[in-house]
Amino acid sequence: MALRGAGEGGTAPRRPHPPEHASGVGLDSAAVRHAMVQRLAQQGLRHEAVLHALAAVERHRFVDTALVAQAYEDTALPIGWGQTISKPSVVARMLELLCEGRALPLGRVLEIGTGCGYQAALLARLCQEVYSMERLRALHERARENLRPLRIPNVHLIFGDGTAGFPAGAPYAGIIAAAGGDDIPSAWLQQLTVGARLVAPAELEPGRQHLVVVERTERGYERRVLESVWFVPLKSGTA
Ligand code: SAH
Repeated sequence: MALRGAGEGGTAPRRPHPPEHASGVGLDSAAVRHAMVQRLAQQGLRHEAVLHALAAVERHRFVDTALVAQAYEDTALPIGWGQTISKPSVVARMLELLCEGRALPLGRVLEIGTGCGYQAALLARLCQEVYSMERLRALHERARENLRPLRIPNVHLIFGDGTAGFPAGAPYAGIIAAAGGDDIPSAWLQQLTVGARLVAPAELEPGRQHLVVVERTERGYERRVLESVWFVPLKSGTA
């Protein structure tokens, strides 16, 4: 696929940002990201806007310095406090499910589980506004630090338990969760606008999570259960 003009993957001038706090991905991280995106495309991920976002956002900025060399491999990585950043192919799949067949940018989107903020930075390129919730204060603060130098105006980080959604920003054109509970919380369904889509893991049978996609239509909710996945648990309360 053509990736010319994909943010820093193309020939456009680089946005100024502070010196790399993380080094070790080689001098040209855009080339490494481009290779990652090519591999994802070969695996069947085809959504142009999603692939462009993955080519543009520097994943190595969101992981610990010690893990920077692995930032563009297709692996989940620890981000501290017992949590992980999903592997790029899973992030791409979720975003593709959220966006496919829909006009972009989407309107307001709610993300449950900010983690290190990586997916929020990707969503910012696909949606008008991103509301991203995290229940662990330390990770919420970490995401804020990670995102600050990128100066992304349309990401709003919220510290709180996302199982009740975020009514203040509702209704949403999309909801995407990076943590899975027993089922899809009803608050999330209620906060979708007609025509909106939700993508989330859920443990519909004990010990097995699946990706679930729900569309809100004029007639109600249409649910699809897709492949099995493994995300961290959706927990209640804050810490
Ligand atoms: N999208 C993230 C992935 C983070 S992992 C990234 O790009 O890094 C999932 C996150 O969901 C964890 O940080 C976990 O603390 C958070 N989480 C789990 N239950 C939650 C809840 N009820 N509300 C908000 N966040 C939650």
